[in-house]
Amino acid sequence: MKLLFVGVQGSGKGTQAKIVSEKLGIPHISTGDLLRGAFGELKNEIDSYIAVGKLVPDELMLRVLQDRLSLNDCVGGFILDGYPRNMAQAKKLDEIISIDKVIEIVISDEEALVRAIYRVTCSKCGEGYNTKTNPPKRAGVCDKCNGVLTKRADDNEQAMLKRIGIYHKETEPILLHYKSVKVNGEQKIDRVTEDILRALEI
Ligand code: AMP
Repeated sequence: MKLLFVGVQGSGKGTQAKIVSEKLGIPHISTGDLLRGAFGELKNEIDSYIAVGKLVPDELMLRVLQDRLSLNDCVGGFILDGYPRNMAQAKKLDEIISIDKVIEIVISDEEALVRAIYRVTCSKCGEGYNTKTNPPKRAGVCDKCNGVLTKRADDNEQAMLKRIGIYHKETEPILLHYKSVKVNGEQKIDRVTEDILRALEI
C-alpha cells in the first residue's frame, strides 16, 4: 500500500505513521526526518530553510525523496509523511507513483501550536513527549531508552505560526486533489490509530 498521511504540524501524523507502518510492515518515510538527517554540502542550505519554518525548494526536496523511494524496502509500499506539501509536489508525485490512499489527521490550529511548543523527541529512538501533557519521568531523558530528549529548532511559536500558515495555504489544496479520508486527531493515540485502520479497511 502506498499511503500519504497529511496533517498540520503537531497533528500526530508522524506518530501514527510510525505505528501503522509497523503494523503493515512498510517503511515510514518522513521528509522532515530525511531533510534533518541530510549531510554533506546540502546540509547548511537545507537547515537554513527548516530553521525559519520555510519549505525547502521543491527540486531539492524531490531529489532527496526520490533517493529514498528508490531503496528496496519501498517496493511493497510505504507511508509518506510530510510530502507532498503543495500542489506542485503533488503533481510531481503523480508522475512517479500512484498513491492508494490519503489520510488527513485533523486538529485545530490552537492544539497544533500547543503540541509543537511543548514537544521534545528522543535523539536516540525517536520517541515523542509533550513536556506539558505527556512528560517523561525524568526531565530531558527518554523513558524507553534513556536517550537525550531534544527540542526541534523550528518548534517555537514564531516558526510554528509560519508553518501553520503555509499548511493552510499550500498543503490543504492537495487534500481535494486526492479525495482524502478525514480522521479526528484530537483523540487518544490508539483511537486515532483505530480510525486510520478503519479508513484503510484493514
Ligand atoms: P516536518 O518534520 O514534516 O514538520 O518538516 C520540517 C521542515 O522540513 C519543514 O518545515 C520544511 O522546512 C521541511 N520539509 C519537510 N517536508 C517538506 C516538503 N515536502 N517540501 C519542502 N520542505 C519540506
